[in-house]
Amino acid sequence: MTTRLAAIGAALLSATAAAAAPPPARPKLVVAISVDQLSYDLYERYRPTFTGGLKRLGEGLVFAGYQSHAVTETCPGHSTILTGAHPARTGIVANSWYDRVAASIVYCVSVDGAADPEARGSGKLRVDTLGDWLKAARPGARSVAVSGKDRAAIMMAGHNPDAVYWWADKKGFSTSRHAGPTTPQVLAPAEAFNAARFAAWRASPPQLWPTEISGACAAMQAPHRFGKLELTGAAPPQTAPGGVLPPTVPNFSEELRASPELDRMTLAFADQLVDSFRLGQGPQTDLLAISLSATDYVGHRYGPGGAEMCVQMAALDAGLGGFLDRLDRRGVPYVVMLTADHGSVDAAERIGADRVDGRSIARGLAEHLQRAFGLAYDPLAGRGARQIALRLEPADEPRRAAVVASAKAWLKARPEVVEVYTAAEIAKVRVPADKPVTELTLPERFVESFDPERSGDLFVTYAERATVGMPRALGDSVAGHGSPWDHDRRVPILFWWRGVVPTLEARPMETVDIAPTLAPLMAVPAPPVDGRCVEIGQGCGAAAQPVGSAKESAPTP
Ligand code: ZN
Repeated sequence: MTTRLAAIGAALLSATAAAAAPPPARPKLVVAISVDQLSYDLYERYRPTFTGGLKRLGEGLVFAGYQSHAVTETCPGHSTILTGAHPARTGIVANSWYDRVAASIVYCVSVDGAADPEARGSGKLRVDTLGDWLKAARPGARSVAVSGKDRAAIMMAGHNPDAVYWWADKKGFSTSRHAGPTTPQVLAPAEAFNAARFAAWRASPPQLWPTEISGACAAMQAPHRFGKLELTGAAPPQTAPGGVLPPTVPNFSEELRASPELDRMTLAFADQLVDSFRLGQGPQTDLLAISLSATDYVGHRYGPGGAEMCVQMAALDAGLGGFLDRLDRRGVPYVVMLTADHGSVDAAERIGADRVDGRSIARGLAEHLQRAFGLAYDPLAGRGARQIALRLEPADEPRRAAVVASAKAWLKARPEVVEVYTAAEIAKVRVPADKPVTELTLPERFVESFDPERSGDLFVTYAERATVGMPRALGDSVAGHGSPWDHDRRVPILFWWRGVVPTLEARPMETVDIAPTLAPLMAVPAPPVDGRCVEIGQGCGAAAQPVGSAKESAPTP
């Protein structure tokens, strides 16, 4: 893999000049794209096969980037991309966490006190986003976000978007008054898109997957056993040969999400939003944030190393290519940034790694604590096996430190467990300023994910490349992410504009650097954040501190 990276790097660098051409003086539109679960490994593996949008974006500035923090989940990862802040500051420490006051598990975009449990909003995000900075500095500018997932759209949109949309099963692209405006101008584009989409599906069931999988992807098709689940290796969806599935079947929503069709729809809707909101047509720079969720659903369901992901990568590449071509035809000068909310690792069985039954570990820990402390109730909030929150009754609170210590000792004795840190231990760790992201220790990575109010009591780390979870039925996650290891932290960070000189950057870049890097390009002042402006020709200004040392440059031809 290192050799392949070096080869690509050499080819790219030898073909390029020493410095990137400056970006458009003031682009009219910045498009910030997150591909959910696009690890740097996955990007690198398929990079030679791209012919569409990912090929084009790979011919810009390519950083091997980092989601620096330890809890590599979707909501925390998306919270870093356009805020410039680590989850410790965004407050988004996980997708869900135990709220000690409410004594319940809360979802990162749920709305406290809302009568509707399906209500979604940005209330738990403690900082502003690039879109919020933009709207504060230039109220006439537009900030629009769309995703296949509510948490991704809302974390990228921030608190004051002109519009934010996400895909809701059976409803289509939706929004909520807790997340953004719900004026007719905002609702009309979604209603029109959804009506047309559902009418088309009634007339002819959607083709979720190609009827035939050919070439390199076909060669990857094989039966697999992941945990207790057998996958036949036939073309998905496994319930409907040929990839065509009527929307009336019960599992349609799940099959749709874990197929290339979700991204196709998201990009088609984003394309319509460019017109609905006249993005790039005003006097200011507008912002369009897009998070493409299918890669994540496909990765969890089939593993990122399978034939399904091979098909998904080709579809994503083609879909992005079509989207960028349509942007070109509008004649708007634009800049694209593409990254991911976290990486991933393939299913344990396919890479010869350990599979960890997290639920059985959590159950075992609960039983141990009940026995050791004579508890008549379950002391664990939830069944997560990575971030564990204790739910003690008031009478047992004085024994909390002893319970935590006993839990840590029990976990440390498990052969699957590599490290366990308590919240008290993490709270004492300081990350030295300017320590390179590549050199952070495990506790330092947890510090960047840590909030004393919201984080759990224990952080458990399993072996590198281990899969946590025991799939039993189709739809269960067979592979994933969430660890502090580099396979879950490393993501591509790409910048592209017309005329950019292809450059493989040797500087490390973090996703928290993205917002302060884009802000000067949009003539928007950035508040102090965790990340730094990385010089990409846009002019970071006197206060900017470029990350790392000198950029690797090509020899002058
Ligand atoms: Zn994700």
